[in-house]
Amino acid sequence: MQITEIYKSLQGESTYAGLPCVFVRLTGCNLRCSWCDSEYTFQGGRKMSPEEIQDEVARLSPDKGLVEVTGGEPMLQERELVPLMQQLIDDGYRVLLETSGERPLERVPADVVKIVDVKCPDSGEGETFRMENLEVLTARDEIKFVLSSRADYDFAREFTRRHNLASRVNAVLFSPAFHKDATGARDSSHCLLDPQQLAEWMIADSVPARLGLQLHKFIWDPALKGV
Ligand code: SF4
Repeated sequence: MQITEIYKSLQGESTYAGLPCVFVRLTGCNLRCSWCDSEYTFQGGRKMSPEEIQDEVARLSPDKGLVEVTGGEPMLQERELVPLMQQLIDDGYRVLLETSGERPLERVPADVVKIVDVKCPDSGEGETFRMENLEVLTARDEIKFVLSSRADYDFAREFTRRHNLASRVNAVLFSPAFHKDATGARDSSHCLLDPQQLAEWMIADSVPARLGLQLHKFIWDPALKGV
């Protein structure tokens, strides 16, 4: 498998936010979101066998804690990733999969928590979500919308309502996008959409979603990789 990095940090943007977590970041993405902060995953990386990845995860998480598979788009390496995720589950880890939902998710093992990042219009990758994937989401999964404008908010609100997402998944998350070149200050000044503005819209509309902030960007320098 082609791997950009494996490291331990805190989970930053789901209902698991704040928990220690080993991240397995796969190389390659078929999308190009305008605010992407992971462009360094598009190329490069190093080949690792599933066994090497398991060994590294075990070294970083001997207590068999939380493991997040992310990217790039991890489902581009589905053929090897699906058995690896099943093996991690069988070994006793709790496994999260962060994906755009552009690829089919039918083969993802049932015990994996899917965190699906449905792209909004101003990401430049709107309408890439594969609608059939809605049928494979379960009450353990989460759907996230990363928002950079009022148009994105309107899209997320309507998508959430039209598809009754709150009854399908564990959580629906609305999260302000971060400026991709942000560095220095660890505060909301780098958000492309002011969290206070977003909160006010969500309250006014009683949206069945929770506001999420990228926790790691408020703990470490937003430009720092591997956190
Ligand atoms: S899907 Fe993720 S990794 Fe790919 S371009 Fe969008 S934000 Fe970046």
